[in-house]
Amino acid sequence: MSLEWDVVVIGAGPAGYVAAIRCAQLGLKTVCVDEWLNLRSKPSLGGTCLNIGCIPSKALLESSYLYHQAKVDFEQHGIAAPSLQIDVKAMQARKSKVVQELTQGVRTLLKANDVKIIHGHAKIIAADSVEVFSRETQAKTDELKTGNIIIATGSSPVRLQQAEQMEGYILDSAGALELDAVPERLGIIGAGAIGLEVGSVWSRLGAEVVLLEAMHEFLSIADSKLASLAKRSLTKQSLDIRLDARMVSAQVKNKKVHVVYEDKAGEQKEVFDKLVIAVGRKPNSDRLFGEELGIERDERSFIMVDEDCQTSVPNIYAIGDVVGAPMLAHKGSDQGVMVAEHISGHQTEVNYDLIPSVIYTHPEIAWVGKTEDECKAAGLKIRVGSFPFAASGRARAVAETEGLIKIIADAETDAVLGVHIFSAQASELIAQAVLMMEMQATAEDIALTMFAHPTLSEAMHEAALSVHGRAIHIKN
Ligand code: FAD
Ligand code: NAD
Repeated sequence: MSLEWDVVVIGAGPAGYVAAIRCAQLGLKTVCVDEWLNLRSKPSLGGTCLNIGCIPSKALLESSYLYHQAKVDFEQHGIAAPSLQIDVKAMQARKSKVVQELTQGVRTLLKANDVKIIHGHAKIIAADSVEVFSRETQAKTDELKTGNIIIATGSSPVRLQQAEQMEGYILDSAGALELDAVPERLGIIGAGAIGLEVGSVWSRLGAEVVLLEAMHEFLSIADSKLASLAKRSLTKQSLDIRLDARMVSAQVKNKKVHVVYEDKAGEQKEVFDKLVIAVGRKPNSDRLFGEELGIERDERSFIMVDEDCQTSVPNIYAIGDVVGAPMLAHKGSDQGVMVAEHISGHQTEVNYDLIPSVIYTHPEIAWVGKTEDECKAAGLKIRVGSFPFAASGRARAVAETEGLIKIIADAETDAVLGVHIFSAQASELIAQAVLMMEMQATAEDIALTMFAHPTLSEAMHEAALSVHGRAIHIKN
């Protein structure tokens, strides 16, 4: 039987659209089905990341940081900005323009690669068949016969039953990035990646921000030393981070959100203008296929896949957030490329040990590889080197002296096991570490490499030197 398509990709987020482009580059006849509608109910490609995630959050983080710098940091440079004002609507308009240009860019790229785009809700009805339904009328619009299916349907915010979403008051991350005025008091449930980034945006613009985090430990996924440095720094920036805080209820009364939560001292109450729920995301794997197909999901509904991202049904693959943590755009994109190569008969793999993580606070928190605690728990003998930005000439020149780089190396082989950065531009600096670790560099390899002066990157060099007690610009 001749099949209409080689590959149907479901979802045009960073996992799906990248998979579709790579499939098409490899000569596979590819269609990408996506159901995203933007605020104006228009189809928009790029999924969560481009529409309501990575990109709009970074646009607002930049605008709010510029405002913060003008207000707080300019003075030390001898620059006065006495009549500084914020126009939140203009900030939001710039953000929307960035989103619009990038989502349009995805459309152009897919078209340029001859990927057919279909807007609508996809449902897999057999291992070789996908039906598409209109979002508006629910009517069936297409039936696609295919050799392979790639599920890249992403994730949605977890909701809390104690705090039903209420437009204008109790918001998810998308709502938190759409506010057109600075709330006086903003409550955030969850001090994870979204809580810290969204909290930074509105706090820099003048909101009083309180983060209620259920865990005892702050940012437990990061290296504990960096996490504690970050907590101290963010607290100094007036983010009020309360740990061990479990929400009991949230209700809207008289245009305010009344929150009851419990901490070690007992029941507490807070009143906010807006409340953001940022307690993680769940997979979009419902309404996608019938149980009879045999695609297995775990107890939290993530689609289960093998190392090639193949589901329990041959020729049906799943990638990105829908297969679980880490829920990061670059992980999904890498899986997309791998699956495209796999379908074309090539051997590739994703190196899950070297997925970089970044939290875009200021300073930024970035890491790759193992934390010190993970190394110790694994019984590894390690050497640790670190270098503070306070001792970096460039960091002083640009007034970014907060933070450090920490390198963990294997005590016997000197292989770099983890790199942890808390600094300005950590998101850019971490790429060096990923590359070095991917090339299996030792700490000594980094120490023997020449870095341009004066740069923030020199701190990487000095941290590597410090692994062997040879740093020049600090006393080892
Ligand atoms: P998604 O981007 O969610 O895309 C899935 C697509 O599939 C959507 O367009 C959806 O409409 C479509 N779809 C779902 N079901 C169907 C169906 N049945 N039929 C047709 N289409 C369907 N990650 C980072 O790496 N860096 C960051 O800085 C970062 N910042 C973030 C900030 C915020 C506020 C949020 C919410 C997330 C952030 N993330 C970040 C996470 C990142 O957005 C996700 O990891 C990424 O978008 C996952 O990509 P994906 O392609 O798997 O899914
Ligand atoms: P997260 O897992 O990063 O953080 C959620 C936090 O909420 C955790 O600290 C958790 O302990 C806490 N929590 C859970 N239930 C709670 C409750 N009932 N009360 C109080 N606290 C509670 O999730 P997120 O911040 O929602 O982000 C979702 C996903 O999006 C993450 O997996 C992340 O990888 C991704 N993301 C990434 C970036 C980035 O890469 N810079 C930015 C934003 C989001």
